[in-house]
Amino acid sequence: MKFVSKFKEHRVVLIPDRYIVDNYGRRSLQKGISVEFHNNEYETDDPKIIKLLKETPIYGVHYRGVGDVDPQTDIAKQTGKKENESIEATLTSCPFCPFNAKSAFGLKSHVRFVHGDKVSENI
Ligand SMILES: [Zn+2]
Repeated sequence: MKFVSKFKEHRVVLIPDRYIVDNYGRRSLQKGISVEFHNNEYETDDPKIIKLLKETPIYGVHYRGVGDVDPQTDIAKQTGKKENESIEATLTSCPFCPFNAKSAFGLKSHVRFVHGDKVSENI
């Protein structure tokens, strides 16, 4: 299966390297699994790698499978994103102008400083 990344050279760590301590207190390095995209592409036929690649939180965000039909993942991600966006918009968009603050606090200061007069008139 072929995967395409947003980034030209992109390394995705699927399982990080880690140290294992045995019963005798000896440490040994257990190699993790990572893949590297070159020229935005990575291809594998290893079902284990494919599964791991699809399970990362950045799947569908930073990279995705080519021709991948997995509507469940996509819909879940899209609706989740949409909800967040609309909440964000109501919390931080100025009711008086097209300004969009980065936070509710930012919006408050914006309204106070830019529309201070209007706000008091309306009250
Ligand atoms: Zn404004």
